[in-house]
This record gives sequence, C-alpha cells and structure tokens, in this order.
Amino acid sequence: MSKDNLAHVAQEDDYSRLDAAIESTVRINADRNDLEGRFPRENLQALAAAGWTGVLNEPRFGGLGLGHGDFAEAAYRIGQHDASTGLVYVMHVGAAQTINLFGNSDQKERWLKAKNGSLLGTYSTSERASGGHWWYNFSEAGRTGEDYLVNAEKSFTTSSGQADFYLVQTRTPGAKDQTDISFFIVDGKAPGIVASPWEALGVRANHSGAISYDGVKVQQRDRLGAEGQGKEIIYDGVSPVYLIGLGAVWEGVARGALNAAIAHTKGFVHKDKNRSLSDYQAIRQELGAAKVLVETLRPWRNELAAKLDELWRAGKPQSEILIPLTEFKVHAAEVANKVAAAALTVTGGYGYRRGPIERSFRDARAAIAMGPSNLIARDWIGKSLFGLPLELFYEGGE
Ligand SMILES: Cc1cc2nc3c(=O)[nH]c(=O)nc-3n(C[C@H](O)[C@H](O)[C@H](O)COP(=O)(O)OP(=O)(O)OC[C@H]3O[C@@H](n4cnc5c(N)ncnc54)[C@H](O)[C@@H]3O)c2cc1C
Repeated sequence: MSKDNLAHVAQEDDYSRLDAAIESTVRINADRNDLEGRFPRENLQALAAAGWTGVLNEPRFGGLGLGHGDFAEAAYRIGQHDASTGLVYVMHVGAAQTINLFGNSDQKERWLKAKNGSLLGTYSTSERASGGHWWYNFSEAGRTGEDYLVNAEKSFTTSSGQADFYLVQTRTPGAKDQTDISFFIVDGKAPGIVASPWEALGVRANHSGAISYDGVKVQQRDRLGAEGQGKEIIYDGVSPVYLIGLGAVWEGVARGALNAAIAHTKGFVHKDKNRSLSDYQAIRQELGAAKVLVETLRPWRNELAAKLDELWRAGKPQSEILIPLTEFKVHAAEVANKVAAAALTVTGGYGYRRGPIERSFRDARAAIAMGPSNLIARDWIGKSLFGLPLELFYEGGE
C-alpha cells in the first residue's frame, strides 16, 4: 500500500473528535454494556463518525492516514474507560490494516471506504481444534467454480454476530496441511453464519463467542492475497497491529483502574480519624507501586509504534519486531492485572461492589488468555533468547 499515510500527522482536531466520542459514548455506556452484555455499537459508530475506525486507512479510501502511534494512543484512551470497546476497536483496525497491507483497491473500496468507513470488521482465526495455536487451522473452504464455500468452526471471535465483515483464516481446497492457509473477507450478512452467545467473566460487552461458517459463499474477489499466503499475512499483517493495539488497551485498563482508585481513596474519609484513605501511607505505597508499573508502558508503546511505522515506510516486514511486540503484550497484560488488583485492595468493600474497579479486575483476566496467551508468549520469548525457532507451524500435523 501507499506509504503516504506516514506523511500525515494527527491534528488537534483529530484528538478532540476522538476524546468527544469517548466521552459521549464509551465512558457513559461502559457499566450498562457490561451489566447487560450489550454490544457497544453506538460507541463504534461514534468512533467511526470521528474518523478513528479508519485511523490507519489511506485518505483516498476515507481514512485518517495516520500511523501506529496514533492508533495505539486511541486504543489506550478507549481502554481507560472500557476494555470491551477497546478490543472491538483493535480487532476492527487490525482487520482493516490487514486489508490495507494485503488487499487490492476493489477490496479497500468495498470494505474500508463504503458507508463512510462505518463497516465494522474483525479477525476470525482461533479454532477449538488448535486452541491457543490460532495460526494453525483444521477448517477448510470448498470450491464452487471460481468461488469458495467457507466451512469453519471458530472458537472465539470478537464482535461475532455483530461485525459487518470477518477476516476468516482457513485452508483452501487441496491445502498441503494445517500450515497451508489463506484469508477471506466474509460478509457478516452472508447466509450460513451462526454466532453463539457470549457469557464470560469479563469483557462482557464484546461478544467474543464461537461462530460457525456453514457453506458460506465467498467470491474469489474477496480472497485476501493469494491462496496459501496465510503465513505471511499472519506474520506481517495480522500480528504486528494486533499486538500493539492489544497491549495499548490493557495499558488503558491499568491507567483507568489507577485513576479510579486515586479518586476513591482521596474522597473517602474515615470520620473517626478525620482522614481520607489516601492519608494512610500503606495505601499510598500500594498506589505508588501501581503507578510505576503503569508508567513503564507508554514509552515502550511509543517506541514500538515508531518502529512499526519505520518498517512500514521502508517496505520491510513488521514481523521483524514480533518478539518485542509480544513482550509488550505480556507485560501490559500483567500490569493490567496487578494494577486492577491493587485498585481493589485500596478501595476495600466499595471497590469490590459492581462498578469500574471490579470490572477492570474481571476484564483484565482476558488479557492473559488472549492470543498469544501469556504462557505461549513467554515460550516464544524464551526460545528467542536462545536463538531457537518459534516452531509455530509444525508441518504435516494432519
Ligand atoms: C476475550 C477474548 C477475545 C478473543 N477474540 C478473538 C478474536 O477476535 N479472534 C480470534 O480468532 N480469537 C479470539 N480469541 C481467542 C484467543 O486469541 C485464543 O485463541 C483463545 O483464547 C485460546 O483459548 P483456548 O482455551 O482455546 O486455548 P488452549 O490452547 O486450550 O489453552 C489452555 C491453556 O494452555 C496454555 N497453552 C496452550 N498452548 C500452549 C503451549 N504451546 N505452551 C504453553 N502453554 C500453552 C494456554 O496458555 C492456556 O493457559 C479471543 C479470546 C478471548 C478470551
């Protein structure tokens, strides 16, 4: 794609529109959406109207034409108020960026530019059969003339049943094995798509349930890249943008929990001593430690985002920094969990009641499981320390 995007610099107006959208929808809908397991559609519509769902898209396809630093900053600001909306946003921008990098003009016109850029996308990769090894597929599309019939049981897909398009990862007829995969852009309204309900501990509004594709017809024009190009798309399309965005959402969750804990401990007074909770040194110690953890993330995020832009500008594969991006995801997930737990500790029974602090504690748990799970990610990081191959794709696993 054109690297002209990276010539664009965010204007003050862009951030005013982003903040207004967050303030008028994301922040105020968060508790209700969590309670009711309600998909944050208005939030995404407001972010689209502000231009931010097209943050990385080229201006000629209706996008803002900005870089990864702005995308990650938006994910962070959204995550401060609502992890569910943050994840829906990241999966959307990730799917769009994969089309930016591997799609053709026809696909960008129809999926990114159409309806003023308001179509919502997501990734549909994970399968029950391969669990957390989501890059490795057992499902397979059939062929009908020049087109395809997608058959797949996906175990988790954020925005399932809600998205306008799914970036489905599967195999094509005659694929050699589970590593020989391809990507399709699947219309969310196509017959044969059935989404299951989403009932979970946290991120209850993001509808990340199972979804099945039963003989879903996909035209050849909606195959992304070539048959069998899936591995390259995973490494250089899906993963880099997803990992920086995911880490940024968890950084936002950590910051949001810290801010909520500061506000509560400052305002809650013990009348017997006439002291607020923040007057106790033990509480300040706990929050001080949490603040240090949160502060580790911003400079790291900005450095990785700048490197992603640099690689993009140079036309080099962004997977060059797959391991540093994975380290950032792992750390952000752990920081979100530690800070949410500290926020609960210092706010006592009030923090434990339903509300933003207990929600951050439940939401943050998803960070550990989401791919690559922290266990799998640490395995990659450990292997890379010793120059060992990651062995994501083991051949002939049939
Ligand atoms: C909120 C949420 C949103 C999601 N959104 C999407 C989405 O939009 N699109 C999508 O495609 N998927 C999505 N996923 C799926 C996610 O990325 C993982 O694929 C999925 O959570 C893996 O879960 P599992 O139970 O199948 O994993 P399992 O593989 O069964 O993992 C069970 C445990 O084993 C560990 N484990 C597994 N393999 C290894 C290994 N090789 N080494 C060490 N430990 C290992 C795991 O860390 C975990 O602790 C989402 C998941 C969640 C929770």
